[in-house]
This record gives sequence, C-alpha cells and structure tokens, in this order.
Amino acid sequence: MTHFMIAGGGIAGLTAALALHRVGYERITVVESAREILPVGAGLNIMPNAVRELDGLGLLPELERRCLPTRELRYYHSSGGLVSREPRGRGAGYHWPQLSIARGELQAVLADAVRERLGPGALVGGVRVTAVEQPESGRPRVRIEHRDGTRRGSASLGPDVLIGADGIRSTVRGCLHPEEGEPPWNGVLVWRGTSRVPAASIGTFMFIAGDDARKAVVYPMTEVDPVTDTVLVNWALAMPAALADGPAADPRGAYRGDWNRPVPVERFRHHYRGWEFDGVSVEEVLGHAVGAYEYPMVDREPLPRWSYGRTTLIGDAAHAMYPIGSNGATQSVIDALALAHALSQHADPADALTAYDADRRPAMTALQRANRELGPEVVINLAHQRAPGGFTDIDDVVPAEERAEIAAKYARAGAFDPATVNQGSPYAPTP
Ligand SMILES: Cc1cc2nc3c(=O)[nH]c(=O)nc-3n(C[C@H](O)[C@H](O)[C@H](O)COP(=O)(O)OP(=O)(O)OC[C@H]3O[C@@H](n4cnc5c(N)ncnc54)[C@H](O)[C@@H]3O)c2cc1C
Repeated sequence: MTHFMIAGGGIAGLTAALALHRVGYERITVVESAREILPVGAGLNIMPNAVRELDGLGLLPELERRCLPTRELRYYHSSGGLVSREPRGRGAGYHWPQLSIARGELQAVLADAVRERLGPGALVGGVRVTAVEQPESGRPRVRIEHRDGTRRGSASLGPDVLIGADGIRSTVRGCLHPEEGEPPWNGVLVWRGTSRVPAASIGTFMFIAGDDARKAVVYPMTEVDPVTDTVLVNWALAMPAALADGPAADPRGAYRGDWNRPVPVERFRHHYRGWEFDGVSVEEVLGHAVGAYEYPMVDREPLPRWSYGRTTLIGDAAHAMYPIGSNGATQSVIDALALAHALSQHADPADALTAYDADRRPAMTALQRANRELGPEVVINLAHQRAPGGFTDIDDVVPAEERAEIAAKYARAGAFDPATVNQGSPYAPTP
C-alpha cells in the first residue's frame, strides 16, 4: 500500500490528505512542525474555483457555517472615488460562492475532516521535516525531528511519496533547490489583522483601496453577532517600507515568511488617516483591532521544476506569490486536488508527479508573474496615474471597457472565469 508523507499541515497539506483519501489511498501521514493546529492568521478569500473543489470533498456546508460569502468587490482610489464594483461568487454567475473566512477556521475544518476520515494518527503535530534526499529513482529519504514536548530526537523515514506542503520557507523545496536563498522582498511592508467592528460601521462588501504607494484591503468575515452587534473584519494594508516611519523591516530577512510578528496598530494607523470609502473608515476599523501583524511582502521566484522522482511541492512551497487576487490559499487547494487526480491516473507515482507538474506549474508561474505586476489591482494605479487628485466619474479616467479587460485578463491567467469554473472540476474522481 503506497505510503504518502505530507510535510506541513497548512491549507495545502490538509487538503492534499483529504484529496488522496477520496481517490482511495489509506496510508497518509501529515507531519506538522507546530505542536497543535491553532487558529492563527487573519482572513483569506477563497475563490469559486477552489470552493468547487472543497465542495467536492464534502466540506462546503461546514465552511458556509463559519464564513461569509463575498458578494461584491469594490476598488477605490485613496481620495474616496469609486474605481469599479463587481459582483462575486454566485452573483457573478459562478455555481459556487466566493468565501471570506478566517484562516484558522478553514484550517480547523480541514484538520477535523482529516482526523475523522483518515484517523487521529494521520495528522502528527510537533514533527518537523529537517532534510530530504531524493535519489534518481525510488523512495525519498526524509529526516524528521520530534518537538512535541514528550518525545525528542530525530528519525529517518522512507515514504513512497513525499509531498512538500511546508509553506514559503519550505525545507523540502530548500533540499531540492539548495541554491535558493531567502524569499526575495520587494521593499513593501504588509500589516494584517482582524477587528471586531460595530455592524453600522462596516459595509457588506469587500474593498481594495489605494494609490501608487499605499493599499488597504478590508472585508467582513462573519454575519452580525446578535449579542454584540459586531462583525469580524479582516484587513491588510501595504506600503513601501521606505515611506513608513519607525524601524524598517529587518534587512537580514530574519522574519521573512513569519506571519506572526505582532506589532502595535499605532505603528501604521496614522498612514491611513482620513481613508473612508462609502462610509467605511479604515482608521476606525483599525481602532477596533484585536491583533496586528507585520510581514514583508515576499514571494518566490518561479521554479523550473516542482517534481523530482517521488517528491513534489504544492501550495506556497511550490509557488508562493504576492497576496494579490486572493490566490494563495485558492491555488493551494487546487494543487492538492490536481496532485491526487494525477496519482489516481498513473500506476507509477513518479509519472504522476511529472504529470501534476506539467498540469499546474505553467499556470502558477504566469500567476506569480501577474501578481508581481499587481494583478487586477493595477486598475487603482492607473486611476491614480491619470487623476492623482481624485475624480468624480471613473469613466472619464479609466473607461469601462479598459477596466473590464484588466479583470478578464487576470481571470484568464488563473482560469477562474465563470465559464471555465462552471464546467465542473477536471479533478473529479473517475467512477
Ligand atoms: C501561521 C500562518 C498564518 C497565515 N496567515 C495568513 C493570512 O492572514 N492571510 C493570508 O492571505 N495568508 C496567510 N497565510 C498564508 C496562507 O495560508 C497560504 O498562502 C496558503 O494558504 C498556502 O498554504 P500552504 O499550506 O501552502 O502554506 P502554509 O499555510 O504556510 O502552511 C505550511 C505549514 O507547514 C508547516 N511547516 C513549515 N515547515 C515545516 C517543516 N519543515 N516540517 C513540517 N511542517 C512544516 C507550517 O507550520 C504550516 O502549518 C498564513 C500562513 C501561516 C503558516
């Protein structure tokens, strides 16, 4: 019986375990370096193409209980002018919704399903992959280290297949590509967090606002709490470190890729003073913050190869990209399904991993590059270039056809336009 080892119990690794189980594999071990799966991280938007796959895994009803469908996305110029508004999810013609969800909630739904379907031993916390050797043919050798408090020490294992789902600073990737250093930083700082905001102070829409330097992304992730009359809101702000006052990001990259570096909101709140969009004040949202984290905007250079023999990469380990276009977690889910599907179609796992690489890598390379060019958010920069002081009618600045083409071009790059998504999953198990 084929034994799969998955390094990393994030969104990609847990989804891969469920997808492999669905196509009939039983021996799957997810090793996660954190001792426990804790609800860490702020919010994520999951696009309909990935929701379709999560629905196929039977998880949509539980997810819908824990999140808010994203019904509308608006782009604004920092002066307050509306650049564009577009329906999202079912309202945009998809057969599936787009979801605004706390990262911890999504991870919990996946982890619970893994334990329930594969058994409690399938997800092992406190175990870190420290080294990998993948010979030309045959099984990988995987070195692991226990850090669970009760057991200490290391061991060497030989699973039939190793899946590196260990995030942007992946050890598996580092062993396959030892020449690669730290994730490159573009000089922009990102601040993320969540706020409990009075219902009257927040809209029902997601918005992205900005100019040529600063950006703000804000969206509600829950219905109104009837007891407190509040809504849990996710926010992410970005601006060049050179324009931010206070200590600059660590130039040695000591915390690159660390999502959990807490900072006080006062460090950056003043940069967004007066930012108000159809009644929603960014400054007020930040005033209700329940936590704030600083993160240098980093991604990974596209790789010429993800699969080597019986070892491959998925999720951020394969293609970490700038947080633009809601694609980080979305594409990680799709990788997992694509990989399980390829394994179900090929007798030799090495052939399956090669097929998965050929299926997914070119599109992800295109998306990584598109995100370096700001993806669909470029519409805000265009508006700013043409009318830096603001405008009353966006049609005078960026005509509707030009705006529609920017959105459609990005949707085509990621194959997430409604017509393609509604055709159904290319990774559904063959009966
Ligand atoms: C703590 C955290 C918070 C995040 N918060 C946000 C957020 O607020 N907003 C957002 O858009 N994106 C966030 N992300 C990123 C987002 O979740 C990912 O872009 C996306 O979901 C891709 O998921 P992934 O599973 O590939 O990688 P990750 O989500 O990074 O998961 C990788 C997992 O592997 C584990 N791991 C790492 N190294 C090893 C190793 N050597 N051995 C074993 N396990 C290992 C990590 O502990 C982690 O659980 C966060 C990621 C993390 C880890």
